[in-house]
Amino acid sequence: MTTIYAIANQKGGVGKTTTAVNLAACVAEAGYRTLLIDIDPQANASVGLGLPKDGEPSIYEVLAGTASLADAVLPTNVDQLSVVPSNGSLAGANIELPRLEGSETRLREALTGAVGDYDFVLLDCPPSLGPLTVNALVAADRVIVPVQTEYFALEGLAGLLDTLDIIRRDLNPRLTVAGMLLTMHDGRTRLAQDVEREVRRHFPELVFDTVIPRNVRVSEAPSFGRPVIHHDPHCAGSDAYFELAKEVAARG
Ligand code: ADP
Ligand code: MG
Repeated sequence: MTTIYAIANQKGGVGKTTTAVNLAACVAEAGYRTLLIDIDPQANASVGLGLPKDGEPSIYEVLAGTASLADAVLPTNVDQLSVVPSNGSLAGANIELPRLEGSETRLREALTGAVGDYDFVLLDCPPSLGPLTVNALVAADRVIVPVQTEYFALEGLAGLLDTLDIIRRDLNPRLTVAGMLLTMHDGRTRLAQDVEREVRRHFPELVFDTVIPRNVRVSEAPSFGRPVIHHDPHCAGSDAYFELAKEVAARG
């Protein structure tokens, strides 16, 4: 069985890409066949896994219908982890996609019958609720919502949950929230503890037990084109993403 996760939050800089890359690497390391699809035109996940940001075919060609998903899959230096890279042309998809037939279901169509060999597929979304994120939410079984453990953390979450409701009602009834993930948590500050308490109080049952600490090894790893578990397997960031992978895998 393949489970498809969208990593989404319309806010930028909350840890979506970092979570997509490192969670993908950790579930792959645990032995699950994993595919990470980069659907952000910034291509940070592709670059973070050591790929060029202008390769072709990319997810752009897949959504445009000029390449199949299988054609766009590349291996990574992590065993069991493959990636479909993004490409700057994808920026145009925000305008082009709505003009194409079945614009909201193109990613789902591309994945149907093409991802059966994988246990987990992760979709790294751009920082908006535009057509690319809608495609991801329509294709996904579950959503992981990274939430930066900072003041204003709750801002925007209500809007995101409303969007999920609309998608569930109109386009993808099986979509569920896997969880909100507190990221960049700085345990030394009172603020981080207050924000964590507040998010857990607002969304009981919906927040992952695992919290991702702010960790310099996590932020360095992409510049070496590798996930943090290869950059420094024993740092706090690696420990946390391994824990998260266990929590996610336990839910199937
Ligand atoms: P998004 O994809 O939501 O825009 P990113 O994953 O790119 O966010 O993260 C934004 C910035 O924060 C990046 O520079 C990233 O390296 C950094 N970052 C993310 N998570 C951590 C962490 N746990 N510790 C330190 N820096 C982090
Ligand atoms: Mg990103």
